[in-house]
Amino acid sequence: MPPIARVEPLTTTRALRGPFDYRLPPALADVAVGTLLAVPFAGRELLGVVVERAAQSDVPDERLAEPRARVEPAIPAELVELARWIAAEYCSTCSRALQLVLPPGAGRGVAPRVRARTALVAEVSAQGRAALADGASERLTARQRDVLARLAADGPLPATETGADHGGLRRLAARGLLLLEPRAQRRRPLVQAVGARSPHAPALTDEQRAALEPILAALAAPAADAPARFLLHGVTGSGKTEVYLQAAEAALAAGRSVLVLVPEIALAPQTVARFQARFGDTVAVLHSQLGQGERYDEWLRLASGEARIAVGPRSAVFAPLGALGLVIVDEEHESAYKHEGDPRYDARRVAAKRAAVAGAVLLAGSATPRPESVHALARIRLRRRVDGRPLPPVEVLDMRDARHPLHPVTREALGDVRRAGRKAIVLVNRRGWSNFLSCRHCGHVWECPQCDVALVLHQREGAIACHHCGHRERIPTTCTQCGSASVARHGAGTERIETELAEALGDPDFPILRLDADTARGGKGAVARVLERFDVARAGVLVGTQMVAKGHDFPDVTLGVVLDADQTLRFPDFRAEERTFALVAQLAGRAGRGGEGNGRVLVQTLSPDAPSIAAAARHDADGFLAGELERRRALAYPPFASLIRVTCSAEEAADAAAAAEAVRERIGAADALVLGPAPLFRLRGRERSQLVVKAARRRPAIAAVAGAVDAVARSALGRRVQLSADVDPQ
Ligand code: ADP
Ligand code: ZN
Ligand code: ZN
Repeated sequence: MPPIARVEPLTTTRALRGPFDYRLPPALADVAVGTLLAVPFAGRELLGVVVERAAQSDVPDERLAEPRARVEPAIPAELVELARWIAAEYCSTCSRALQLVLPPGAGRGVAPRVRARTALVAEVSAQGRAALADGASERLTARQRDVLARLAADGPLPATETGADHGGLRRLAARGLLLLEPRAQRRRPLVQAVGARSPHAPALTDEQRAALEPILAALAAPAADAPARFLLHGVTGSGKTEVYLQAAEAALAAGRSVLVLVPEIALAPQTVARFQARFGDTVAVLHSQLGQGERYDEWLRLASGEARIAVGPRSAVFAPLGALGLVIVDEEHESAYKHEGDPRYDARRVAAKRAAVAGAVLLAGSATPRPESVHALARIRLRRRVDGRPLPPVEVLDMRDARHPLHPVTREALGDVRRAGRKAIVLVNRRGWSNFLSCRHCGHVWECPQCDVALVLHQREGAIACHHCGHRERIPTTCTQCGSASVARHGAGTERIETELAEALGDPDFPILRLDADTARGGKGAVARVLERFDVARAGVLVGTQMVAKGHDFPDVTLGVVLDADQTLRFPDFRAEERTFALVAQLAGRAGRGGEGNGRVLVQTLSPDAPSIAAAARHDADGFLAGELERRRALAYPPFASLIRVTCSAEEAADAAAAAEAVRERIGAADALVLGPAPLFRLRGRERSQLVVKAARRRPAIAAVAGAVDAVARSALGRRVQLSADVDPQ
């Protein structure tokens, strides 16, 4: 009886449920879980992943097909298991989840889209070394001697980097003095380093040493059944990264590998640079802005064990690391860890799962950890900044009677920063010029034709734009409804604040720099360039969205300002308080590091009494977290229950609502509370309706929702409606 492989063909169709059995011909008898195969499927040839091996099949032999060929490289078996878990955990399909763990460049097509790159490489031979050592036996010109000496000192080099021409190298090779042959070349991404970093570990502070102790103990004595899970809760500037680095060093020394997740590479160049400075080529960086070739080669370096530390954003949680010993999740409160495409996985949860399966220690860190993590992980505290400075005082500025987006105290403080030649960071929660436009005469508001949201003015671009679908129009001069020429601009975005500050304060010695999603569109490295300019400037202001508050370590910022702390608070979401607290605390964390004079933080708000803002102003993380956990327990929110959101979208509002109602009926009494259907605002021309399921028992609720969504998707209504389920929505 020939052996059988159970294969999951990589299609995106939800309706197909694998795996499917294939008979293995002798040439493929050794395929294993994770092997990629080109398989015949429904009259086509598809790429498939072996998810199981079996001795026999229920399918009669004459109906079994054979795979055509193996496709290299294979996926580690551990990642196949992880993908199957993700499919179940996030109401997705196995095929879609497997796409997440494929080697870069492998896709739906059968042929790999990336290949190893080869280059002609020259290496000095033993004979060449002998000739160098003893100048008499071989006659060498000065030029030839230089080339051989260079290769002897630097090791093998691509022919183009030897300094000799091709003919010259060939003649040396013909005399046996060097080897010249094509070899696989690894493309190594360059990561922009912000600020020089020393490869040497500093002496730890007492707090850091105490924090490291339980982590090292857990790494030294891994508990096979329940590996340790830590939350490093350290105030901003308390030196969390140094704890990560030394924990990573210990894991490597124990022969294990390390996974380091950061929320966004562009905003974490300092963290990446520190790992590279400390560990050199042992570090592989994985992220989507790399060229596909670079990503492929970094993937191979990890899969082969050549690199032992993977650093990257959420998708790096699928790095092909063997013998995983430590999983680090930096800035664990960041919502960027949640993936917004199907499967809607949360990299923090996947990281925890991966660590548990591999028996690795989990180390999540933040100055503003999520209540969920405080609840579930063993908390280690760092209460003081490394430099011994106190956290900067925070003043709350009441904006209820304000006429101008900048409070007089803010204007004065910015003036002080300029006079003193220091730096300030100003956070505005909205990009663009103003939040919306309206007609002063008839009240008409300019909205997106595709989505039910107001269009935002982008003055420099000369457009009003939808921040959801990207729709753009020219800035109106007259009202499209009544023809009036009086158009009012409401609210202030980053662009307007940047312009106002530039007019009031800016000059060549005091640059006003902007950082937001519009900056990021300036291409690869645009964000890093702005951060770098701010870092090297002697003084100035960095204005931007939440991006300005993310983990940067600039030693000379003396003022931090949040212009509209309510923006996050008004969001109808149970995480609004948590986000607002994190935003203010994180921004406060950027101010008053190093330099003389203490920092100062100003928080402009329409709700000066909001608990999250008041707690952040007191730097009272414990009080805030305790209150928040209490509130969530009372209202049955995570971590005391799981939320699952089901969104139905269709051209007709009635179809969307009917589908949501049908899902609701099918979920039935699965021991869960179902809220809705409730209409959602129209997006990209599609009407939407949603349900929110609140469940104390997670597994059965996920299964019930997945079943209901699948059934409705397969019904007649399902042809007109798109359904998606989001477990742990953000
Ligand atoms: P956090 O991530 O907790 O905000 P960082 O890791 O960015 O803090 O550390 C803040 C600064 O302190 C960095 O410039 C870092 O290089 C420095 N630092 C960290 N640990 C030490 C130490 N033990 N001795 C001296 N400097 C340190
Ligand atoms: Zn009008
Ligand atoms: Zn739109």
